[in-house]
Amino acid sequence: MSGVLGVTLRGMEALPVEVEVEITGGLFAISIVGMPDVAVKESRERVRAALRSIGLTLKGRVSVNLAPADIPKEGALLDLPIALGMMKASGILSNCPKALYMGELALDGRLRRVRGAVPAAFLARNLNIPLYVPSENAEEVALVKGVEAYCADSLGELAMMITGAEESRPVPPAYIPDTDVNADPDFADIKGQAAARRAAEIAAAGHHNMLLVGSPGSGKTLIAKALAGILPPLNDEELVETLLVRSTLGLDTKPTRERPFRVVHFTASTVSICGGGNNLRPGEVSLAHRGVLFLDEYTEFRRDLTESLRAPIEDGFISVSRAAGTVTYPSRVLLVLAANPCACGYYGDPVMKCKCSSLDIERYKRKLSGPIMDRIDLHIHVPRLTPEELLMLSNKGAPPEPSSVIRERVIKARKIQQDRWKEFNLVCNAELPEKLVKRCLTLSDEVRNYLATMAAKLNLSGRGLSRVMKVSRTIADLAGEEEITKKHMAEALMYREK
Ligand SMILES: [Zn+2]
Repeated sequence: MSGVLGVTLRGMEALPVEVEVEITGGLFAISIVGMPDVAVKESRERVRAALRSIGLTLKGRVSVNLAPADIPKEGALLDLPIALGMMKASGILSNCPKALYMGELALDGRLRRVRGAVPAAFLARNLNIPLYVPSENAEEVALVKGVEAYCADSLGELAMMITGAEESRPVPPAYIPDTDVNADPDFADIKGQAAARRAAEIAAAGHHNMLLVGSPGSGKTLIAKALAGILPPLNDEELVETLLVRSTLGLDTKPTRERPFRVVHFTASTVSICGGGNNLRPGEVSLAHRGVLFLDEYTEFRRDLTESLRAPIEDGFISVSRAAGTVTYPSRVLLVLAANPCACGYYGDPVMKCKCSSLDIERYKRKLSGPIMDRIDLHIHVPRLTPEELLMLSNKGAPPEPSSVIRERVIKARKIQQDRWKEFNLVCNAELPEKLVKRCLTLSDEVRNYLATMAAKLNLSGRGLSRVMKVSRTIADLAGEEEITKKHMAEALMYREK
């Protein structure tokens, strides 16, 4: 008895599952063994109805075994291989080609979209066997290069394909999205905020984490979101990486070159942010992979939550250990934090009066410290514009620069960095490890002396010092200049917390 191959997911990885079916005489019953979860157990009813839709009525005792027995099987994606196994055991399917089969069955035999088609495509490629998926999964599978994949709308169509009665339908060629991306919101729509706009450009160019401090209504969220729109478009490899996360979660997998932008609220759980839980799914930090992770109202976040983010932010990946094993998710994000300037929110506001005592303000400022804050390169104040300022801005001067123009400069600066750090396999200045900073970022005597004086004044730590140097490198790259000048350094120092 040889089985039909299906898949189950562990974290973002697809694992092969062999489905073996045996039918013996006796009263009708279906049993499934091999650590199935509730959804797999429920597949009994779906599969039975779907088989009836193609004219097969099951009789006798049907035993389904899912191997290997020590891996938990989850979800409805095993419906299809179970149905094929039953067809084989009943003798109506003489030949079932060696391939990976995945899909959920509707009662009328239609194949429904399942999560995990992208990891399954990677598995099929590694095993060097074809993959059969529901047509609704075809688009995401097509983006994985070098995999032989077919799709069908229903169990009936698929059966015709594998018996050779009908030609197998290859998944259509991948829709490769345009490298142009639409920024929404666009910096052209953001009034004023020259300092934040400049800092966002530096953040995007060198992949520097940023903190925005401002009163409610100053537009911090808007700036964070617009930042995602000036990042370079995702390249093919990065696009598939982001697709892998979304496919694992069963989310929309329409291919796009736009960078992800994910907002995390302080009420979120550690699992929802970092991933894990019983089903080992990736969290927000992985959904933001290759894009922007935005933590609004940062001072409200619990310490344990920000502490748990430290490693994924630093390492670019996150490991979660459970009884079922250890899984790794990607988490290379640009971190943007937003916070009010004080507990009431209006310290330094041009119109509203701050109600906090100086003690309150000191206490509040202490919240803006800790392991995550150490990893922030750019501290920016985002003032709320007064109604007069807003009016004046709408009547005067040239319109603000659109995101597409800023993005062009960012792409140019990234290219310079990529070439420079090629030997270390790094793509941007922020990735440069601390031990390489002093060796690789040379400063003239004048700039070094200036930095030393300022570092003492600002009480910068060693880590802070290398962060300033990396930012100054990015500023010089944006200017297209080979040498870091005093002007670049002065600007980089401006973004340190005061
Ligand atoms: Zn206040």
